[in-house]
Amino acid sequence: MSGKFLSREALRNTKKAFEAVNSRQKRAGTNFAVSTVPCGCSDPGCGAFHRVETDRPLPTTEEAIQTLKAKKAISKNKASA
Ligand SMILES: [Zn+2]
Repeated sequence: MSGKFLSREALRNTKKAFEAVNSRQKRAGTNFAVSTVPCGCSDPGCGAFHRVETDRPLPTTEEAIQTLKAKKAISKNKASA
């Protein structure tokens, strides 16, 4: 996202809205991927909205660590082969 197309105000509102979505997810106890969708109109004061992608749950910290370990193990095997 570039300040070239959006006003400083619109960028700030977009960032604030993203933080609000994350806060709501935290309170609700959910952890889904959030994508930022630009409005698309020509108003530079109009920012973007956010979509909670309920079909894309994010891994927990534990799961992410396990995934990293597994990937490291694979790349080590490739290096020695
Ligand atoms: Zn708009």
